[in-house]
This record gives sequence, C-alpha cells and structure tokens, in this order.
Amino acid sequence: MTPADKKRQRHVTRSVLFAAGGLFLTAAALAVVKPSPPPEPIYQARQTLALPALDSAAPQAAASVAPYIASTRIRRGDTVSDLLHRLGVSEDGLLAFLTHNKNARAIYKLYPGRTVQAALDDQGNLVWLRYAHTPGAAVKSGIQSAWLEVRPDADNQFVAQERTTAAMRETRVAEGEITSSLFGAADVAQVPDAITMEMVDILSSRIDFLKDLRKGDRFRIVYDAYMHDGEQVGSGHIRALEFINKDTTYSAVWFSNAQGQGGYYDFSGASLKGAFLRSAIKFTRISSRFGMRKHPIHQKWIGHKGVDYAAPAGTPIHATADGTVEFIGWQNGYGKIIVLKNFGKYSTAYAHQSRFAKGLKKGDRVQQGQLIGYVGSTGWATGPHLHYEFRIDKKQVDPLAVDLPVARPLEGSDKKAFAAQVQRYQPQIQMLARLQDSRVDLLAER
Ligand SMILES: [Zn+2]
Repeated sequence: MTPADKKRQRHVTRSVLFAAGGLFLTAAALAVVKPSPPPEPIYQARQTLALPALDSAAPQAAASVAPYIASTRIRRGDTVSDLLHRLGVSEDGLLAFLTHNKNARAIYKLYPGRTVQAALDDQGNLVWLRYAHTPGAAVKSGIQSAWLEVRPDADNQFVAQERTTAAMRETRVAEGEITSSLFGAADVAQVPDAITMEMVDILSSRIDFLKDLRKGDRFRIVYDAYMHDGEQVGSGHIRALEFINKDTTYSAVWFSNAQGQGGYYDFSGASLKGAFLRSAIKFTRISSRFGMRKHPIHQKWIGHKGVDYAAPAGTPIHATADGTVEFIGWQNGYGKIIVLKNFGKYSTAYAHQSRFAKGLKKGDRVQQGQLIGYVGSTGWATGPHLHYEFRIDKKQVDPLAVDLPVARPLEGSDKKAFAAQVQRYQPQIQMLARLQDSRVDLLAER
C-alpha cells in the first residue's frame, strides 16, 4: 500500500465512522483540505423534488410523470419576467396573473440569492412555481419556512397560495481555528453568529474573550441548526463544545436536571455559571464591607455581618444562586428581607428591599439570576442599598473572603443522567479532534 493509499483508506474509515455517529459534518470542518466549492450555477435542472410533496386540491393531471424541476437563483436587478425566462416557463397569462393577483404579491419581493423553482411536465407545461421568500423565521414551535406556490387551475387560470412548513432540526458539528478573530474563524466554519455568541456566553466565566484569545486557539461545537431545502435557515442552541485556549481545554455540555432546570456544565460536571454570582446587583459599588464598623444609626461598634451595595432605590436584585425562598417579609433591622436556602449548607439574604418581586412567596424555587426584589431602605438603613449576607450553616460569613463554592454538585439521578449526556456528546467532540489531528498529518506528509 502506498502512503497515498493509506491516506485514502484512513479517510474512508473516518467518513464511515462519522456517518455512524449520525452527524452531519459541516463542509467547513474539512475546509483545510478541501478546496472551496465552485460558485453555484444560477440555473440548474434536476428531476428530484426539492420541496416536500404537498397535498393540494389543484389538478395534477399534467404531472402523471415526475415533473422536471428547474431552479434559479435571484440576481440583483432581476424582474419576474427574467426569472420565468430563465426557468423556461412560458405559460400564457402567467405573467399577467402574477402582476395582478393579490395572493401572488410575494413574487415581487425578490431577494437576491433566494431561489425560485418551477416544475414542468414532459410537454413543458407548468405544474407549479414556487418561491421560498422566507426560508427561515422564528415561530413558537421552532423555525418555519414560508413560500409562495402558483399552480394552473381547471379553468386555464392560476391560483396562488402562501404555504409554510416547519424547518427540520438537525445536529451539526463544526470546528475552527482562530487566526485573526473568533468571528472570523466561526465564519470560515459556517457557524451562525448566534451560536458563536452563545459559545462566548457559555464560557464567559472561564475565558475573557476580549483579552485571552490567542492565534491557534480552537473550538469544536455540536449545535442544532434548522434546515430547509438543504439550506441552514436558523440556529438552535449549543449542545456541547470544547474550546482550547492557550493550551487549556474547556468543555461544556447542556444538561437539564430532574426539575427541568437546564444549564451548561463542563464534562466533569461542574456548572459553568458557578454556584453563586459575584453580586446580586449589576453595576454597583460596595459601600460597606463585612467586619467591625461603627453602626451608622446606633453609633456603636458592632460587627457588620454582610456586604452593602450602594444602588438607587428600585434597582433590581437578583438571586445569586438557585434556591428556595425560606423567608420573605419583614424582620427587625433588616426591613423587607428575602432569605434563600440555596443548597447544602448555603443560604443568602437580601435586606432593606423597597418591594419584592411580584408573586414571590415562601417555598418558591428561584433560579440563579432571577429577579427577586428591588433595592430600598426599609429597616435600619440610612439610604437605599442592598445588605447582602452569605450564610454557611446559618452563620454569616464574608462572601468576599470565602472561596465561593464554584459549582453545585450534581447528585443522585441527576449525576447519572449527566454522565449519559457526556457519553453522548464527548465522542462527537473527540471525533472532531481526531479529524483535526489527521489533517495535520496529511498536510505534514505532503
Ligand atoms: Zn449592611
């Protein structure tokens, strides 16, 4: 076997493995070895149906044989008549119909790059004309594509109808190497911007994307995309990823626990958002630290058992960690206070509030970052601020001094389910890593 044969063999093996993994490999993942595809022809004819078969009451007598599908991409400056000409459609009265029929209006919103298709029978008669004017739009149930369909009717006239179909959700993988910028690398890998931004968000507790990125950093992502007619028309969410930054590998996988609360964890099971937020208020300054101080009202030296954050009255207060409302109401000195039992031995308290979040009551579950109330100056407070306490075994400790628990450990059935989730996605990430390693080999042997 020549080295070239070996390489080919290896390539075939990899392809088979990949197919077995049930994944769709984006072209970009192989972009390093594959030349970019030739520019797409603006006219093509094929005999397969590109859009799903539709149940239509319109007559199909002409289509006893599978129709030919002609397809053309809209160019800047095209008119409807140009498109019909390129598609080989010359039905009497069609252009007039498209011009005057209200239901066919969409045909005049010609977006360059989008596709118009025509199905013709073997006599060259029009079976249908379709224009996917909105290939992807977010709706409640996911992503939907909308198109206009025009068919001849029984009276030698035409009917125009707007149609929609749900885009197919597909799991995709992509890999990229940062040469100039993260978004540049994501573009090369054909990763949608929304997915790139999600990646930044997921890892923001680990990587400072403004300062830490280096040339040669790599990412490998498994994410959901919405497809219609072979094109990506929308993006879902990241399922798993790996990011190599300055020789350190970070991982993330989406996991939803038995209570239906989801979040990203690294492959070892540590939550990526950290168990506690650094602060319950965004954009604030600490006005009084934990420790001994002269009380501003009582003028006595006493221990300050929390941290004060100065903020205007009405500033939203967020739960610093997932938890359950243990107390909500008035306590002497604290004024309006919420105590959250977070997990294990940890609880947090938020005092001097002006009002609580609407409807929040004892026993409610709250999630990290959830709005629970608003800054005020109820109780013993000289001015509006949040008095925040971090308690371990009900005893106040200085949240700025203790090592905050970085992750709420997964327990019991969650731990098992999480392991299964990692088992599902880690091999896909590893596959990308192996492909990358092989590529380096191939290039080096040349
Ligand atoms: Zn205080």
